[in-house]
Amino acid sequence: MDLIQSGVKTNVKTSNGMIRPNTFRVIAGPCTVESYDQFVASAKAVKGAGFEYVRGGAFKPRTSPYSFQGLGEEGLRILSEVSGDLGLRAVTEVLDPQDVELVMEHAPILQIGARNMANFALLKAVGSAIAGSAEHGVILKRGFAATVEEWLLAAEYVTSAGGDNVVLCERGIRTFETSTRFTLDLSAVIVAKRLTDLPVIVDPSHAAGRRDLVVPLSKASVAAEADGLMVESHHEPQEALCDAEQALPAEALVGLRETLQPFASAMGREVV
Ligand code: PEP
Ligand code: MN
Repeated sequence: MDLIQSGVKTNVKTSNGMIRPNTFRVIAGPCTVESYDQFVASAKAVKGAGFEYVRGGAFKPRTSPYSFQGLGEEGLRILSEVSGDLGLRAVTEVLDPQDVELVMEHAPILQIGARNMANFALLKAVGSAIAGSAEHGVILKRGFAATVEEWLLAAEYVTSAGGDNVVLCERGIRTFETSTRFTLDLSAVIVAKRLTDLPVIVDPSHAAGRRDLVVPLSKASVAAEADGLMVESHHEPQEALCDAEQALPAEALVGLRETLQPFASAMGREVV
């Protein structure tokens, strides 16, 4: 396995347009699709801020089996209806190899979460399912106890099964620090970009677990040469059924774009 190639890659991109050269992609939306009304309100704010990609989980990997597990297939239907009506591209997590085809029918971008980064059956199933699709892609989160090499090898499971359009997502790792939910590892973003051609984005929401750190960490991600962000936002954050403490208020997304653009410009990128 030869992971190490030569030097920093610039202008990385995906062939399905998820990541384009000289741009900084922002994906926003609620942790979970809770209802039609909740998702449409949150997604309209994403659209209103000028972003093109909306996130929302239908199958949720909750730490406790007693926590809300997501709406499942009903959540996928809401996701595809609302994203289709608003002209947004949807990102949603797939937990089970058996659900890959179903999820692909409703969303172009499949997320493989931190808790499943080393679920090799899922990685292979997603890789072969999206092989040859001009539309579909994958966001592969880094496991919170995974090394950069393990993360890149997980991505190789997807690409070697035929799936291109893989985007890596750093979402924080577990350390001794307790003031944040996880610790955002920005060095991993830089290291990963030196070792692979795959685009790398950052999820500051799960890393911090606190909404007050999301914008500062987003700025730092731009400076760390990330290709984009995935942030959680909700039209009523305090009411969110999942990850309420880290959700940006939906109306903060316009400000996020305006705050990031000067930093992105300094890196030769446009926030999209
Ligand atoms: C999520 O994006 O809602 C999520 C569960 O993320 P992670 O897998 O990084 O914890
Ligand atoms: Mn979440």
